[in-house]
Amino acid sequence: MKLNENYSNLKESYLFSTIAKKVNEFSAAHPDKKIIRLGIGDVTLPLCKAVVNAMKSAVEEMGVQSTFRGYGPEQGYDFLKNAIKNYYAEKNVSLAPDEIFISDGAKSDLGNILDLFDKDNTVLVPDPVYPVYVDTNIMAGRKIIYINANEENDFLPAPDESIKADIIYICSPNNPTGAVYTKEGLKKWVDYALNNNAIILFDAAYEAFITDATLPHSIYEIEGAKNCAIEFCSFSKTAGFTGTRCGYTVVPHALGRLNKMWLRRQTTKFNGVPYIVQRGAEAVFTEEGRKEIQTNLNYYRENAKIIADTLTECGIKFFGGKFSPYIWLKCPNNMSSWDFFDYLLTNIQVVGTPGEGFGKNGEGFFRLTSFGSRENTIEAMKRLKSLIK
Ligand SMILES: *Cc1c(COP(=O)(O)O)cnc(C)c1O
Repeated sequence: MKLNENYSNLKESYLFSTIAKKVNEFSAAHPDKKIIRLGIGDVTLPLCKAVVNAMKSAVEEMGVQSTFRGYGPEQGYDFLKNAIKNYYAEKNVSLAPDEIFISDGAKSDLGNILDLFDKDNTVLVPDPVYPVYVDTNIMAGRKIIYINANEENDFLPAPDESIKADIIYICSPNNPTGAVYTKEGLKKWVDYALNNNAIILFDAAYEAFITDATLPHSIYEIEGAKNCAIEFCSFSKTAGFTGTRCGYTVVPHALGRLNKMWLRRQTTKFNGVPYIVQRGAEAVFTEEGRKEIQTNLNYYRENAKIIADTLTECGIKFFGGKFSPYIWLKCPNNMSSWDFFDYLLTNIQVVGTPGEGFGKNGEGFFRLTSFGSRENTIEAMKRLKSLIK
C-alpha cells in the first residue's frame, strides 16, 4: 500500500484556527467585552418560506406509497434542471437540460471535475484565492501557477499571453475580494482560453448578488464561452442552502467529450441530491421564492453598504461590497493583515479575516462580510468609526 504523497504537499491552513485561538484567548481575558464577528463566510438568514413549504410537501410525498421516490437521476430531476434552464434563458443563455448537472454543492463539483483532466495540466489560479482551487489540485499533484490580483488591476487580473495554462479558475463576484468582472474583462479570458486550448472553470457562487444589469452573471453571456468554460453555481449563498446542500454545474455540449465524461463520472461516483432538497431548490425560482430570496439578499446588501459607507467615512480604501457579500479593505497605515486583525480585536472587539490567509497578495488586506446581523454590523461600524476617525 502506498499513500497519495501529494497530500503531504498541502499547506496546513492555520487561518481559521488561528483566528479562533486569538478570539478565545481575548474573550477569556476580557469576559465582559462583546465580540462582533464579521469574518464569517456563511449565511445567517434562514431558508425562505417558499423553500420550506416546498420541502415540507416533498417530505409528505416521501411518506406516502404512491408518491414515494427512491433513487433519482444522478444528474438531477428534470423539474429542477428545467427551472435552471429557464433562469439562464432570462440571461439570454440557452442551455439544454442535459448540459445541467445538479449536485450537493459547488465545492464538491469544483473538486470532482478534476477527475476529467490529466495530471499533466498546468493550472492557473489568481492570488488571493478561494483555497479549494489550490488544495484540490495539490491533492492530484498538478502544477499550479499564480496570477496576481492586486490593487493595480483592481483585483481583476487580465490574461497574459506569455503565461501558458491549461485549466484556469475564475470566481466572479470574487471570494475573498468582492471584485466582479465586466463582460469585456471576461471576454479577454474567453479569448485566451480559446487561443490556448485551455478550459475555464468559472465559479458563479455569488452571481445573485449582482444588481448591475451590465455585469455578467454567467460566463456564457460571453460569446465563445460554451467552447471553453464549465460553470459552477450553488444555492448556498443565493438562497441560504449552505447547510441544506444543493448546487449545479453546467458542462456545455460544445466542450465535446467533457459533457459525456462528466455524466459518466457523476453516474458512477454520485447518487444524486435528495428529492426533498431539489424540490426546495426548485422553489427558489418561483415568483414567491424569488421575492423572498431578494429580501434576504437585500438585507446582506444593506449590511455591505453600511460597512462600505463607514470605510469611506474613515478614509479606508476598499474593494467589493457592491455586488458581493465581501468587503476587501486595505489595512490603514500599512498595517499587516494580522496586525490589523489584532488591532481591531483588542480595541473594538471586531473580528474579520486577515487577507494574507488567501494568498501572498492578500497581505495588507482584510476581509469583512455582510453576513452578520444588522444590529451587529451597525455596532461594529460605530466602533470602527470611533477608533479610526
Ligand atoms: C461559498 C462558496 C461556494 C459554494 O460552495 P457550496 O459547496 O455550494 O456551499 C463556491 N465557491 C466559492 C468561492 C464560495 O465562497
